[in-house]
Amino acid sequence: MQIRDAKALVCGAGGFIGGHLVNSLCAAGAASVRAVDCKPLEEWHQKNPAAENKVLDLRLIESCRDASAGMEAVFQLAADMGGMGFIENNKALCMLNVLANTHMLMAARESGVGRFFYSSSACVYNADKQRSANVVALKEEDAYPALPEDGYGWEKLFSERMCRHFREDFGLESRVARFHNVYGPLGTWMGGREKAPAAISRKVLEAKHSGKNEIEIWGDGNQTRSFMYIDDCTKGVLDIFASDILEPINLGSSELVTINQLVDIAEEIAGVKLTRQYNLSAPKGVNGRNSDNSLIRHYLGWEPSTSLRAGMLRTMAWIEEEMLRGASSK
Ligand code: NAD
Repeated sequence: MQIRDAKALVCGAGGFIGGHLVNSLCAAGAASVRAVDCKPLEEWHQKNPAAENKVLDLRLIESCRDASAGMEAVFQLAADMGGMGFIENNKALCMLNVLANTHMLMAARESGVGRFFYSSSACVYNADKQRSANVVALKEEDAYPALPEDGYGWEKLFSERMCRHFREDFGLESRVARFHNVYGPLGTWMGGREKAPAAISRKVLEAKHSGKNEIEIWGDGNQTRSFMYIDDCTKGVLDIFASDILEPINLGSSELVTINQLVDIAEEIAGVKLTRQYNLSAPKGVNGRNSDNSLIRHYLGWEPSTSLRAGMLRTMAWIEEEMLRGASSK
């Protein structure tokens, strides 16, 4: 199914990735885009005037019916989530995302939606494969036997399977991507839900502007991760949506860095050198994680390739602007 001329619904459109995806769908020639989020409109990271912007709580089946009525393509990104600081301390809230995922699948089926995209996460992968910072990149098959991130990851893995069974048993065409750490402008950069690239950008910029030459890093800084720039994420979502890829597939960068290297990049961009304080009791997630991109290269002949430095340059420029105009993160 092509997105051109299709009526598309984006759930979680007031959030970081959903907001960018609405713009990509408009640019890709969708016939119409309905953007839905439970947050009041003034708290959305961005609103596209070409879209129909609606406030609905998708934990409720009636709201899901309302959202999916007349739609041909559904992109389900709505989730109560955040970085490690949030998901390690809010496991029940993360598991309650099953309500929006289940009700959206049920409503999409009832409305005769042609295709359903679900945003899963690298947090579904077996923790035993992520114990060392010296990683072997994760292949799709490494999600089983299951030992995902407690709370958030278990719910994602369950909802992935629900997408599969709705396709197999009810004929609802589903596509699932496992996002690996997405970052970029117009996302959460403070308040407790922000992820590592935004948090580190903010801390480095705060140190630069206050003249306080210190930064707190969660963990020992040797944890390894890869980070995908938002433009690669939205392109990947549209391409996976249009593809024949039936099984969950990695959507992430394979440029592996330690958190210390991420801080090096942020310091270099800001033009500062800071004293690092390591907080070993802060939430830090698994020791190492990278995306094996063999499958996406095989299917799409493409993989996310924006360099971390280029993406961080744009992200930090935006966060600095927000900070200087005294904005609070949504
Ligand atoms: P985000 O928090 O910026 O956006 C999620 C949005 O969903 C929020 O605006 C929130 O208000 C909305 N929402 C939550 N509950 C809702 C409900 N009941 N009804 C309607 N809207 C609701 O997060 P994001 O970074 O844009 O992530 C989007 C999706 O991608 C999520 O499903 C997330 O789990 C997944 N994901 C993101 C990352 C990442 O690095 N950002 C990594 C892996 C997976």
